Amino acid sequence: MASYIVFLGPPGAGKGTQAKILAQSTGLPHVSTGDIFRENISQQTELGRLAQQYTEKGELVPDDVTIGMIRERLRRPDCEKGAILDGFPRTLAQAEALDRLLDEFGSRVNLVPFIQVDDETLVARLSGRWTCRAAGHIFHEQFNPPARPGVCDFDGSELYQRKDDRADTVRHRIQVYRQNTAPLVEYYRQKGVLFELDGTEPIETVTKVLLAALEGIN
Ligand code: ADP
Ligand code: ADP
Repeated sequence: MASYIVFLGPPGAGKGTQAKILAQSTGLPHVSTGDIFRENISQQTELGRLAQQYTEKGELVPDDVTIGMIRERLRRPDCEKGAILDGFPRTLAQAEALDRLLDEFGSRVNLVPFIQVDDETLVARLSGRWTCRAAGHIFHEQFNPPARPGVCDFDGSELYQRKDDRADTVRHRIQVYRQNTAPLVEYYRQKGVLFELDGTEPIETVTKVLLAALEGIN
């Protein structure tokens, strides 16, 4: 059976950082709805123009658009063995749609790592986050600096600071998370797949705990 891992946690918790590391170690694709929206925005596709109106304000892109996009992504052949989802689902409607889709595949969500971090740390993380233009690799100017400032260690592309990582937008995104996404913690707890993690630990420690939890699934 395929493995579907869903990262849950507020913006800045370390979902993308850990999802990328797990993708490397498991060979499963890293599916980040935020990355897909940003790619579409930079290419100014129809989807990108629509998404931009929401992402730049820190609002959620409407469910029908996001769900349609993820259905298309998870049907691609590289997701045959499963996927590591980062930033999806973010609403109850999205979680239910994901369950229906995986049910069609004869599968289900296997593990939901829920990364917890206090608000003050989230703001400090996002205000120092630098993201790679080519592939979304993630750095922090203090906590996880690149070897050369402004240059991605992995592919040499330019690092930039996301517009929605400005402190005022970050605070709004945290509120949007509390209101729309936090209820998913109970949703997945009831299904018995929630795995709570202390996200204030160093990146390597969080990874070790996650890899140990992964051994327990399937
Ligand atoms: P998310 O995907 O949950 O929004 P990211 O993985 O992009 O979070 O991480 C947000 C910022 O915090 C990035 O700059 C990243 O380098 C940094 N970061 C991630 N995990 C940790 C950690 N455990 N300790 C310190 N900084 C971290
Ligand atoms: P972070 O992990 O730092 O919060 P993401 O890169 O996951 O940021 O998402 C950036 C933005 O993309 C969100 O603020 C939202 O506007 C949009 N977005 C990403 N995923 C979803 C989703 N599942 N549903 C609705 N909007 C989303």
